[in-house]
This record gives sequence, structure tokens and C-alpha cells, in this order.
Amino acid sequence: MQISIRNFTKKFDDTPVIENMNLTVNGGEMLALLGPSGCGKSTTLFAICGIHRIDGGQILFGDRDVSTLPSQKRNVGVVFQNYALYPHMTVYENIAFPLTVRNDRKADIDKEVRAIAKLTHISELLERRPGQLSGGQQQRVALARALIRRPDVLLLDEPLANLDAKLRLEMRSEIRRIQLETGITAVLVTHDQVEAMSMCDRIAIMKAGEIVQIATPSEMYNDPRTAFVAGFLGNPP
Ligand code: ADP
Ligand code: MG
Repeated sequence: MQISIRNFTKKFDDTPVIENMNLTVNGGEMLALLGPSGCGKSTTLFAICGIHRIDGGQILFGDRDVSTLPSQKRNVGVVFQNYALYPHMTVYENIAFPLTVRNDRKADIDKEVRAIAKLTHISELLERRPGQLSGGQQQRVALARALIRRPDVLLLDEPLANLDAKLRLEMRSEIRRIQLETGITAVLVTHDQVEAMSMCDRIAIMKAGEIVQIATPSEMYNDPRTAFVAGFLGNPP
């Protein structure tokens, strides 16, 4: 599902942090929003997700304008840095929750939970509680829960930030594998250039609320359009 952001504007207390942003995420691609802290990555992701009201412009999923729809009606899966799992529920119940709340049939829920658990490699962990899992395993559960409704888009906000270096490497390739296997359109917010380069089809580099360049990782690395981009990628001119 293609995501189109058109003339998107967002203000906090009358101060615009993003003005007239345009961005298209192609169906099936994984795009990184990359940039330093405070540049507006999460604000952009929240606009796609519907967590924030926007102050101008449109968000489209395919041809459908979702700008005014609340988050629950947008069919998005979201994973944040803190996994926000329900500690009192088992892994199974955590993953099933989005289906339980809409009253799906038990047999259907069971089938879906087991399929997603298989995809995310957590079939053996379904009876545990989040407190009995490693950070990487918790993140797999968060991914499974985000994917259980078979969303049109997957939104990831610094999903690896809380992991140690070894797990971060493992989960980079795991998230990418899952994205490719499902073919879901995904947006990854990160301040880590290596993460963006290694996981994504294209990178949109942001600075102070603006996208300064969009390109594939190799195009961006070989042909940075500004000194800021070059410096941020660790390849100064
Ligand atoms: P990033 O995710 O790139 O680190 P954010 O999108 O979170 O950046 O923030 C972009 C800018 O908007 C920052 O200057 C931040 O201080 C400001 N901002 C974000 N959320 C709020 C908020 N709820 N109220 C006021 N200002 C905010
Ligand atoms: Mg952020």
C-alpha cells in the first residue's frame, strides 16, 4: 500500500516543526526516516499513524485520504522503542489482544496468532509473560502484535534503540526479513545511519523538519547532495 504525504504541516503551540512536507513511500518498500534527534521523524510517523492531528495537508493510503481518521481506523501496525507489552498477559494474549478486542472468533484468533508467531520465530514462547523474555524476544512479540491484524503499513519508531549491540544486529536483519516476507510497506524512524543503510530500500534524510534528500542507500552514500548528508552518513566530502 502506497503512503502519500502531501503538504504536511504540524505545529506545536503555533510553532511549525514541519511545513509542507511531501513524501511518497512506495507499496512494499521499507523507507527510513533518518536524522538527528529533534528533526521531526517521530512527528512524521505519528501523522501517518494518526496519533497526532495534523495542521495542514493530507495523508493518503493508496487513493484513500486517511487524514481525519483516528489511528484505530487506519489499519496500521506500530512498534515503538519501549515495546509496551501488557505485563500481566501471556505472549499469546498480548499478540491476540487486537483481535480479542474486536471480538474475532476464538478459532480464527488461534490460527492467526500461531501464523504470526511462526513468522516472528516465537512459537515456543507463547505461554510466557513479557517479564520472562529478553529484549529481543519482547521486540519480536511487539512486532507480532503489530502485524496480527494484517495492517496495510508497518511503522517502526527507533525499534532497536533499547537493545544491546549484538541483539540490535540480529534484529536488524530479522525486521527486514519479516518486512520482505510479508511484503508490507514499512517506515523506519532512526537516528542510526548504519541501521537505515542496512535495512531499507530508500532513505529520507531529515534536518530541522525538512527532507533534504531521498535516495537508495548506495546513491545517498556515493552522491550526497549536501555537506550535512555527507557528514551524517560518515562520508564527508
Ligand atoms: P525526532 O523524532 O526526530 O527526534 P520529534 O518529531 O520527536 O523529533 O520532534 C520534532 C520537534 O518537535 C522537536 O523540536 C520537539 O521538541 C518538538 N515536539 C515534539 N513533540 C512535541 C510536543 N508534544 N509538544 C511540543 N513540542 C514537541
Ligand atoms: Mg523520535
